[in-house]
Amino acid sequence: MKTFNVVELIERKRDGGTLGAEEIGWLMAGYTNGDVADYQMAAMAMAVFLNGLDDEELAAWTGAMLNSGEVLDLSGVERPKVDKHSTGGVGDKVSIPLAPIVAVCGVAVPMMSGRGLGHTGGTLDKLESIPGFTTQLDPERFRQILAACGFVMAGQSESLVPADRKLYALRDATGTVPSIPLIASSIMSKKLAEDLDGLVLDVKVGSGAFMTDIGRARELAATMVAIGASYDVDVRALITDMNQPLGRMVGNSNEIVESIDVLRGEGPSDLTEVTRALALEMLGVAGIEDGETLIDEAVTSGRALERFGEMVTAHGGDAAVIDDPSLLPQAPERLELLAPRSGFVVACDARRIGVAAMRLGSGRTRKEDSIDPGVGIELVAKVGAEVAEGDMVAVVTHQPGDVSEAVALAESAWTIGDEPPSPSPLIHERING
Ligand code: URA
Repeated sequence: MKTFNVVELIERKRDGGTLGAEEIGWLMAGYTNGDVADYQMAAMAMAVFLNGLDDEELAAWTGAMLNSGEVLDLSGVERPKVDKHSTGGVGDKVSIPLAPIVAVCGVAVPMMSGRGLGHTGGTLDKLESIPGFTTQLDPERFRQILAACGFVMAGQSESLVPADRKLYALRDATGTVPSIPLIASSIMSKKLAEDLDGLVLDVKVGSGAFMTDIGRARELAATMVAIGASYDVDVRALITDMNQPLGRMVGNSNEIVESIDVLRGEGPSDLTEVTRALALEMLGVAGIEDGETLIDEAVTSGRALERFGEMVTAHGGDAAVIDDPSLLPQAPERLELLAPRSGFVVACDARRIGVAAMRLGSGRTRKEDSIDPGVGIELVAKVGAEVAEGDMVAVVTHQPGDVSEAVALAESAWTIGDEPPSPSPLIHERING
């Protein structure tokens, strides 16, 4: 491979110039194998943060990350392979009911998910609250479960996109995480490594999301859709609301219970609406028509719930939790949050609830922290609810000890006003290629 001068590449990007595909490929390969030092890549990440990447650079950057490791081979799967990715939020357990519903409708869903970090939760942590459930699968087992259940829900394998693991840690330590090209290439390189035919993105916007304004969310969504197009993968995005938590449960065990409620057709309306909207997009990407009817049938027939149970068993988990939620871990103490005045809930701030739940132990501040699956917050009064002074607005489940700080933060999430808030949409926009 031709070699380049890394300092010259950094200087060019710093001064607003562009990098060629070969230069980017060399840079990323060198960074992955250690020839390019962390401090050099940190300088490059900052140059990209400040000056961006144009479309060609972005496609090359994503491709170079994708090629830094193995790519899954799912060529033996005959059905269309479609995954969903959420940019992360509070109470966002959508993947758990979504994957079995879509699988029952005829799509193969090779889902690779992440863990919670900061105020946002992670699908892997939620699934691991099921006793025995493992999310660490070798590629052969991953393919077997996908073939048997039509979907599989695992962690990212170490061998896929190693450049992202290194670069993400570096960005975290150098203030270069919130860059649209760096986020988009990070997410898309991992998704393209799954050998997909299509991908549906749930780009969250609001206080509990990565992106707090719709303009940035739109730009991120459009950037990822464009990367998909340059790799011939049909990518569609919904921009959905994350100003208040999704559903009523925030935690891990309790989010499994709520996911099962959705599979029974008894989930909260916001969570059900977002799950259905994303399912419809996934079926659309897969070229399956009459999606609404198929989704209804998957739920009302009980087949989606049954399929979920099969997947849990295949992952080593105890599927008895479906009928007996008491088998899931639950913290022993319970505390009610009460409305300080009468009126209407006009806000239930997702970020505050997410941080409060994290402080109770349901999430982590650092990647290596362990979590407590049994703690969490159940929201009783969400935006629009009318409450009287002293009514219960939430239930906090926690371990013995002083939780006053987390509780005070959770309490501060509610704003109660005199007038009902004007309704705001849950699904803001739809973006496709
Ligand atoms: N999630 C990712 O996978 N990468 C980012 O850069 C940000 C969020």
